Amino acid sequence: MQTNIQAETARRRTFAIISHPDAGKTTLTEKLLLFGGAIQTAGAVKSNKIKKSATSDFMEIEKQRGISVATSVMTFEYDNLKINILDTPGHKDFAEDTYRTLTAVDSVILVIDCVKGVEEQTERLMEVCRMRDTPVIIFINKLDREGRNPFDLLDELEEKLNIRVRPMTWPVNMGSEFKGVYSLIEKKLYFFKVNKTKVEDDVLPIELEDSLLDQKVGDRDAAQLREDVELIEGVYDTFDRQAYLDGKLAPVFFGSAVNNFGVKELLEGFCDISPEPIARPTDKREVLPEEKNFSGFVFKIHANLDPRHRDRIAFLRICSGVFERGKFYHHTRLDKNVRFASPFSFMADSKSVVEEGFPGDVVGLYDTGTFKIGDTLTEGEELQFQGIPSFSPEIFKELVNLDPMKSKQLDKGIQQLTDEGVAQLFTLELGNRKFVGTVGELQFEVIQYRLENEYGAKCRWVPLNYTKACWITAENPVKLAEFIRLKGNQIAYDKDQNPVFLAESDWMLRMNQQNNPDIQFHLTSEFK
Ligand code: GDP
Repeated sequence: MQTNIQAETARRRTFAIISHPDAGKTTLTEKLLLFGGAIQTAGAVKSNKIKKSATSDFMEIEKQRGISVATSVMTFEYDNLKINILDTPGHKDFAEDTYRTLTAVDSVILVIDCVKGVEEQTERLMEVCRMRDTPVIIFINKLDREGRNPFDLLDELEEKLNIRVRPMTWPVNMGSEFKGVYSLIEKKLYFFKVNKTKVEDDVLPIELEDSLLDQKVGDRDAAQLREDVELIEGVYDTFDRQAYLDGKLAPVFFGSAVNNFGVKELLEGFCDISPEPIARPTDKREVLPEEKNFSGFVFKIHANLDPRHRDRIAFLRICSGVFERGKFYHHTRLDKNVRFASPFSFMADSKSVVEEGFPGDVVGLYDTGTFKIGDTLTEGEELQFQGIPSFSPEIFKELVNLDPMKSKQLDKGIQQLTDEGVAQLFTLELGNRKFVGTVGELQFEVIQYRLENEYGAKCRWVPLNYTKACWITAENPVKLAEFIRLKGNQIAYDKDQNPVFLAESDWMLRMNQQNNPDIQFHLTSEFK
């Protein structure tokens, strides 16, 4: 079994595609699935993204929940590898969901729009990747448009994303003059065709000095390519895989996802260099994938499609050993044993019951409320996987019950929704009042809608004047207690009874940090 675990682990690649909305994440996902044979036609991947900040859009998505569950994890085989793509919502109000999904992957592909370059969400997502040194491959998309100069794009990536880059392919012109990309590694020219539907390449192995290049792409573009490549070889070091695996260097590919161009080179580059499932930190020790005993953690919880059934789906990332259907596992937070009769795995547009899963795999577990985000399952060992923090919310509202007869439903609803990770629930030190913190406005509408539709409870929101919540600790417990007493109405507790300090502005937060050197303020809930 041990060697089996090792062999199965070695062929798993679990990653996420991330981007600022509209850069081409959904399109790229779909093309990768086409190459992997997981889908037959374009358009099969339903995006679960929300174009506008409108509740109606979200509700439409809710109706399609079954689909978004299916697209949460997409698995396909390529080159004898089992590739798991974890979907992340693009909308910024759901950023926390994305951040948590990033805790369950071993690497990411970041998509950049060559016209827009680095955008707001790109930066935030990369910050999260850097927290765990997640290896990043960059795909610069939409080369069929008049984009920015590729060297300028690379400079911007290095500057704004704080990572070194190394081009692996290079575009020959762009926009209406786009001829193709030159693979700097293989020394091959891939010719661009609009709406390439076939999977075969139109490709020419060619040295740059060859005069055939001028014939193929024209004198001007051939000269430009030679000049660019000379510059690249002069400026950038050769690709260093270890630096990539350490999260210090991002290889860059160019292409046009909608035209199915540059995608195969990206996929093959990914298969060559991306990491297999890696060791994961817990509160006690590091867990290695090849360990005999199973372990895993829940990184996402999804409400079920059918509102008459209150069950949910928990997404479990397997970290070590073999997960087996029907076997009892230890739920470490609740200290109880649980088993799953019909765990399932995901394909592009369906899900099916699985008998076993290996490190890197994600299994879906039907859950009736036993799980919270971050919960760990083991074969008996007491440990808790780390690196699944809550992030400091930025918008805060008090929950007001509009129907006193339904307060039980409201309490239960808000508890379950916050366990799902839709938002964070806090209780004020003074008066025991409950309020909710999120990173986006849209969540409040979603919560209100779901409380009413799934729990039959009506509520309204009263905005609160805070802009940041920081978890607070101190080496000296007396100092912490004193600070909490002094700050009264600015102290609340999170769902695990950890104290948080509520600030009305960044300035207020800074003042309090300066004036209270004994207190540590944390922007995420995990600090050790
Ligand atoms: P997402 O929000 O990142 O998932 O982006 P989508 O995959 O939905 O793409 C956003 C828009 O960009 C869609 O209209 C796509 O058809 C378009 N798009 C994606 N890739 C390309 C490309 O290579 N060239 C051009 N011109 N448009 C593209």
